[in-house]
Order: sequence, then C-alpha cells, then structure tokens
Amino acid sequence: MSSVAADARRHFTKSFGGEPTVVASAAGRVNLIGEHVDYNGGVALPIAIQRRTAVAVRVRDGARVSRLNSGGTGGVLTLDHAALVRRRKWTDYPSGVLDQLIGAGLDVPGLDVAVASDVPSGSGLSSSAALEVAFDFAVRSLLGLSIDRVAMALECQQAERQFVGVPCGAMDQLSASCGQQGHALHMQFDPVNVRPVPFRESVLVIDTALSRSLRVSAYAERVAECASALEAIRRDAPEVSSLAVATMAQVDGAAMRDVERRRARHVVAECARVRQVVLALAAGEPFPGDLAVASHESLRDDYDCSSRELDWTVAYALRQPGIKGARLTGAGWGGCAIAFGEVSALQALAKSLPAEYEKAIGHAPHTWVVSADDGARMEG
Ligand code: ADP
Ligand code: MG
Repeated sequence: MSSVAADARRHFTKSFGGEPTVVASAAGRVNLIGEHVDYNGGVALPIAIQRRTAVAVRVRDGARVSRLNSGGTGGVLTLDHAALVRRRKWTDYPSGVLDQLIGAGLDVPGLDVAVASDVPSGSGLSSSAALEVAFDFAVRSLLGLSIDRVAMALECQQAERQFVGVPCGAMDQLSASCGQQGHALHMQFDPVNVRPVPFRESVLVIDTALSRSLRVSAYAERVAECASALEAIRRDAPEVSSLAVATMAQVDGAAMRDVERRRARHVVAECARVRQVVLALAAGEPFPGDLAVASHESLRDDYDCSSRELDWTVAYALRQPGIKGARLTGAGWGGCAIAFGEVSALQALAKSLPAEYEKAIGHAPHTWVVSADDGARMEG
C-alpha cells in the first residue's frame, strides 16, 4: 500500500470512526512531449507519476448525503446528492463526479470519504484529475459498477468541465486513470486512443512555483488563433481537418497573420516530434533529448507560452553534465519544466538548481525525480 493510501485510511478513521470498505488511488502526471496539440487534433505523450491521491470510502446508512474530509484536518464537509451545486471548494471535484454518476441514472448512496495526496496542488501535475479519478474508481469499486479506464477518465473530464467549470482536455484524466508503470501513454484525443509505449527513464520535474494567472486568458487566445489558422489553411485545402494533419507547406502557403502562422508552425512541428519520439521509444532507444529542446524552443518562440523562469530553468539544466534535454511541460506561462538524463545527473541537477534559481529568480523552486507509474489502482 502506498503511503498516501495509509494516510487516507488514517484520515478516514479519525473523521468517521471505523474502517473504510475500499481505498483506491490515482496518479498525477507529466507530459513528456506534445504540448498544445490536444485541441488541434494531435497526440501527446504523458506519464502517470508516483505522486498519488488516495480516496477511502464506505457507504453510510440513511440519507443520500455524503461526508468528505481531505488531509485529515479542516473538518468534514457534507454533500446532499439531491442538491449538488458548485461551491468553489475542493469538494466540487468529487461533487462533479457524483453528478456524472447520478446523471447516468445511478442511485448513489450516502458515502463517507477521506482523501490524502502527495500530488502538489495547482503546480500543473494535475492534482485535480488525480482526485476525480481516485474518487470515481473508489466509488465504482465500492458499488460494484463496471470500470472501463478510458470511459471513467472521460466521465471525470466531463465532471471538471461541466461541474467545476474548467474547459480542460482529456489528457490529465486519461493519465490519472490509464497510466502504466514503465510506460509512457501515446495519447490521441479525437477519437480517444491510449497506447502504452515503453519508457523506463526517470525525469526531473522542476516547479517554478509561480502563479499561472495569465494562463486562462492566454490559453483561450491560443485556441482561437489555432482555429483561425486552420480556417485559413482550409480555404486552400478543405480536406485538412485539424492543424495536426496539416503540412508545413500548407501552413507557410496559406494567407494568415504572422502570429497565427507561428502558432500553426508549432503545432505541426510538435506533432512530428511526438511521432519521432514514439518511434524511438518503441525501438527501445532513450528519449531523444534534442527533440525536448526543440519542443521548448518552439513553445517559447512560436507559441509564446514560456516565461523567463522556465527559459532560465531549461537553459540552466542543459548546461549541467549528463542532462540530455529539457523543456517546459504543461500549458506554460509558469508551472513546471522537465529534464531528461540518467538518474544520477537528474539528482545532481535537483541538488544544484534550487540555490542558483533562487539567486536568479528570487524564490525557491520545487523538484521531484519521477518515472512512469500506474494510473488508477486499488490499494490493499
Ligand atoms: P492541478 O490539477 O494542476 O494541480 P488545478 O487548479 O486543476 O491544479 O486543481 C487544484 C485543485 O484541486 C485544488 O485547488 C483543490 O481544489 C483540488 N484538489 C486537488 N487535490 C486535492 C486534495 N488532495 N484534496 C482536496 N482538494 C484537492
Ligand atoms: Mg487540474
């Protein structure tokens, strides 16, 4: 049993007395490559990581009212299944999942629910999806419902979109649900398809510990720019159904603003890089670090979603011995970077970077060495 699962059990007993019937967990995630391509019909390559969220559950007697605790402190919050509303609290994530289950016609009894996690919240490692998927998996197991990992992830994505109100793609929930130890997930979004590819390396995650306040508006702007770039390409080539299947010649040949062309160039080049990485990994080769660097440069120069702190981190990492690649990961505008290399090189980087980063940037970053782990699973 993982330590967060033991924590969830402890929080359960402290909050509600007795023992939970089921404890399940789901993973945080890091995207290795394939950034800003999900909403352009492209593919991504995330891994589920050893940072996990565990959920302990038991059916309550009586009314369809659930009681929830996270972290053992902060008391118990209640949710009346007949009157689920957005409260702008953490319980909106499990509420959203309950809302999906009830919306699918299930009569969900009142539950006691305790949560524990070591996925940092709001850092871009997808603590929200880990919470949704762990909760959904625990409830489905408790009630003896069918479990299809992809369907469960999409249900959790809808919970976050419809109930929490975050217009997210499906990558986070698919990773949290479908992760496999020793494998990256070659992920296609439309239609959804998840194919494990061997990946036994470690990766260093560096959280710049910066607010991502720009992100919501800038993200929506990029989605719109990509849509108008696609429209421009389709005037000449109506058969192009998404930027992911456009060629660079089509991007360069179509009449569009320079900024749209740069966005489209990133998407087309990034999709090609994902394909190259997948071929290399499938052939048993190490992750091609030069493609990670090319991805970062494209996100920085063509997609304009890097930041001074991410650029500094990537440049610093690439100067260290044994580091073969580094890039920003996630949507950008703050959040995390990742570095590739042997574990010893990653550990040395994790040791030297914080003090240098603090000198250059003014505050300390967080770092974690991670590797590909299982997604949703039952815990002991
Ligand atoms: P990310 O998914 O990148 O970590 P989000 O903003 O999408 O960032 O999700 C963070 C939110 O998810 C938190 O503010 C909190 O409401 C909720 N959350 C995540 N993990 C937990 C947890 N273990 N306990 C309670 N709430 C959590
Ligand atoms: Mg999230």
